[in-house]
Amino acid sequence: MAKQDYYEVLGVGKNADASEIKKAYRKMALKYHPDKNPDNSEAETKFKEAAEAYEVLSNADKKARYDQFGHQAFEGNGGFGGGSMNMDDIFSQFGDIFGGAFGGGGGFSGFGGGFSNGQRRVKGTNMRIRVKLTLEEIANGVEKKVKVRRKVQASGTTYKTCSTCNGAGQVMRVTNTILGRMQTATTCTACGGAGQIIDKKPNEADAQGMLVKEETVSIKIPAGVVDGMQLKVTGKGNEAPGNGVSGDLLVAIEEEAHATLQREGDNLHYDLYVSLSDAVLGTSKEIDTVTGKVRIKIEAGVQSGKILRLRGKGIPSINGYGKGDLLVHVNVWTPKTLNKQQKDFFESMREDEHFEPKPEVGDKSFFEKVKDMFS
Ligand SMILES: [Zn+2]
Repeated sequence: MAKQDYYEVLGVGKNADASEIKKAYRKMALKYHPDKNPDNSEAETKFKEAAEAYEVLSNADKKARYDQFGHQAFEGNGGFGGGSMNMDDIFSQFGDIFGGAFGGGGGFSGFGGGFSNGQRRVKGTNMRIRVKLTLEEIANGVEKKVKVRRKVQASGTTYKTCSTCNGAGQVMRVTNTILGRMQTATTCTACGGAGQIIDKKPNEADAQGMLVKEETVSIKIPAGVVDGMQLKVTGKGNEAPGNGVSGDLLVAIEEEAHATLQREGDNLHYDLYVSLSDAVLGTSKEIDTVTGKVRIKIEAGVQSGKILRLRGKGIPSINGYGKGDLLVHVNVWTPKTLNKQQKDFFESMREDEHFEPKPEVGDKSFFEKVKDMFS
């Protein structure tokens, strides 16, 4: 896919000067910011593209190379071939773009927090992790302790009210338009929308008064979760500077494959192989379930393809309505090698009436069995 022209990405002309480029990028960054567009991959792509375009066009040297050679200027030398900037790189530009006391540090977005009591509160960025679960853990519910490295306010950091916006986080601007005077609210550039700026901070803290700290977070995972599902631990993402609210920890569920059980919604399937002798004479077999092994009875004369339903031995419904079943599929194992004596025995049984297939009236057809499985 051909890469879009950096000037087109930002919506400016080829002769745009530095301040026009900056202004255009600021507009794009605000519009497509991930905090404003949660789980919107299109917005995320646009956000990254804009950041990449700005990264090049805001640097006189890179801009000159780009103007002369286009995208080829950055290919194959560790440049931005294919949007390699990560979110932290992008956020670290924001001090430059939005200015203010919190600028320069990564991660702090400066907006997107929603409103509380009429006052804007800045929200820390969300963090994402993946948690692998066994089928047993999914069936029974589990509490997982995970280590995360999150941004927290360094102790000893103090903030003071931003004097530019008096703590509101935004400033009102009056403009004259053909429709008359219009008042619009814009994010305060002095504090990046936080309403507060740094007063004092310990040396080890970053420009926002933040530190990265390793913490153990306990995540309660309810029974019945599904692979790909996302849980939210409110407030366990990065903290925000000042009186902002913490971001969330988003936990993506990954289901590990089970050695013998296959999951299908809330039901489980188990393939049981029995010998010809066991099928003829009947037996009992131990099988795996998500709550440990159970022994089941196999009637004499069991047919291959028979499905035994163990009610309630499946996965609990995530909505809390009951449990799925465990469906045991019986497969009769036909021996592939026989000695002389065995061969003679089966040969003598060829014409025997007991070995003649006689499906009984009332035996379910294959399709009826399948229908049963899903009922
Ligand atoms: Zn301010």
